[in-house]
Amino acid sequence: MFSWIKRNNKTNGASNGRYENGNDYLIELRDVVKTYQGAAGTFVALDHVDLQVDPGEFVAVIGKSGSGKSTLVNMITGIDRPTSGEVLVGDTAVHKLSEGQIAVWRGRHVGVVFQFFQLLPTLTVVENVMLPMDFCNVYAMREREERAMHLLSLVDMTDHAYKLPTAVSGGQQQRVAIARALANDPDILVADEPTGNLDSQTSESIFNLFENLVANDKTVLMVTHDLDLAKRASRTVLLVDGRIVDGSISGFKVQTSAPDETGNTQSESKNPESEVSHA
Ligand code: ADP
Repeated sequence: MFSWIKRNNKTNGASNGRYENGNDYLIELRDVVKTYQGAAGTFVALDHVDLQVDPGEFVAVIGKSGSGKSTLVNMITGIDRPTSGEVLVGDTAVHKLSEGQIAVWRGRHVGVVFQFFQLLPTLTVVENVMLPMDFCNVYAMREREERAMHLLSLVDMTDHAYKLPTAVSGGQQQRVAIARALANDPDILVADEPTGNLDSQTSESIFNLFENLVANDKTVLMVTHDLDLAKRASRTVLLVDGRIVDGSISGFKVQTSAPDETGNTQSESKNPESEVSHA
């Protein structure tokens, strides 16, 4: 069992249970619309989305490919901006921040984990974990390597600290990416298909790390196409065509790839491969 660092002030500066912008939830999306302009006209990626997430929740975001999952979590990290609507995270109105402010805010308050790890290949494992600390200046210079080694110990990567990322496996790289996401002790971790490039055993161990984080007061949002993993989150958010259609995984229809004898693609409430089929 890991001994994760605990925060003393879980409410992130809120007074009377409310945050500065009047939001009651740690994460609150209000009537968020995201459109893209393309050759074929305006495409609606998020269609009037409302979402509320409490501190300590483990939310799995599911839906078919193209349903808006990445767009949704990119709103919360500030990687992308809403066309309209509000994105409130703790005391911050993310949609109102400038690009420069967003980068600083994200570095301090949200840890982001990607499908393809995105470690810097020329830096060692421990240097990768120290990078967000160098960017945000939350921890004194002399503390950073010790803290990075501590975070690497939490993800069982101490022995590989001075290797380059290419010298360790994909699962190990993802462990490093999780340690890096924790660098500045954010309240929230957002992971976009963190197990999408990993075998099932490695996926399980990565998922266990997220479970441990939630057990130690972190709030986690995880995009996944793996319904078996999604079911184990405390809540699932299902997106269909840019809309949240159900807060529950039960009754979620997924398409099998094989057409039936009439030539139609079948829908089932349980996919044998436990994966959301990709359109
Ligand atoms: P998911 O993560 O569920 O696969 P995305 O959020 O990546 O879906 O994308 C939702 C829809 O928005 C897709 O149809 C995608 O093609 C479109 N989209 C995403 N990003 C852009 C962009 N930068 N420009 C145009 N269309 C985009």
